[in-house]
Amino acid sequence: MNLFPITKASNNVIMNEKIKPLENVAIIGAGTMGTLIALLAAYNNYNVRIYDINNLAFKQAIDKLRKEAKTKNIKTFIPLDGWDKALRNIEESRTLEDTVKKADLVIEAVPEKLEIKREIIQKIGKSSTPSTIIASNSSSIPISRLEEASGHPENCLNIHFYLGAKMADLMGGSKTLPEVYEKGVRWVRSLNFYPLKVKKEILGFCYNRVWRAIKREVLYMWANNFVDFRDIDRAYMLISGGTSGPFGAMDAVGLDVIYDIEMVYYKESGDERDKPPIKLKEMIDRGELGIKTGKGFYKYPNPEYIDPDFLNPFK
Ligand code: NAD
Repeated sequence: MNLFPITKASNNVIMNEKIKPLENVAIIGAGTMGTLIALLAAYNNYNVRIYDINNLAFKQAIDKLRKEAKTKNIKTFIPLDGWDKALRNIEESRTLEDTVKKADLVIEAVPEKLEIKREIIQKIGKSSTPSTIIASNSSSIPISRLEEASGHPENCLNIHFYLGAKMADLMGGSKTLPEVYEKGVRWVRSLNFYPLKVKKEILGFCYNRVWRAIKREVLYMWANNFVDFRDIDRAYMLISGGTSGPFGAMDAVGLDVIYDIEMVYYKESGDERDKPPIKLKEMIDRGELGIKTGKGFYKYPNPEYIDPDFLNPFK
């Protein structure tokens, strides 16, 4: 999936750290991100266990991602012929406790809601070993808001994967041990992903903070009818050489997910300018969530921006 503007450069990330810093990885939440992270870890020879409150979630996510990877050329960072190998390293569990009890690293990828994440982190802390590293894949919630619930704040950090680029943010909380953080960095490298090291806690980590500033501005321009959203995407594509712009990228992430993330920033600042526009909420209420529902800013599977004429100045 192409999340502008870094996708092309992602292909150049080659680190090949051969030594695995740990063995057993547990994933909580088998939606888009949990499943992708599970596949990535399993493809790189980690033993993976995965759990979702919905017993069908993992299978549904695999079916959906596999189909999208085949038909829409969406990047999963695993060659299609490597999926079966990856799936052999993944075991589904029916309880969270069973999933995490032998894990060296647990990553939660449940919805972007503070209360749900806190509850999950607490359960992980209770059922894992005292040395298990506990990571959140949250797009916006710093681990310091979750760490105490785990009972082991020294083992907690954010490891935030991006949907379309071979990189992950790593950000410690208030008590994260340096060796825990370093192990997280080495684990990300071992997946051939670039570790973006955030030195001091900031909402949005490294690139998401930049992405968030872009989203706020372009949503404001769209909602107040300053510029057609397609022209904003065209500008981005022309500047970055990417295959979509911010609106195409938001469709890829899911407009409901985008809304929840924007609300986290808004609740943090209380600044009305940070509030996501009502027009975005209206789209969500109509079920226009982006690629996953076939309609967002664009219509799928053939959005306008994939047409070469999208950038034709005479069309
Ligand atoms: P998703 O809605 O696709 O998946 C969430 C999954 O969590 C669902 O399958 C749901 O059944 C499951 N779940 C809900 N409550 C649960 C519980 N109590 N126990 C176990 N499972 C539970 O969401 P997603 O897009 O995969 O996002 C997950 C996380 O990753 C969020 O924090 C999001 O901010 C972050 N993230 C998303 C993206 C993205 O582009 N979608 C990118 C990076 C990070």
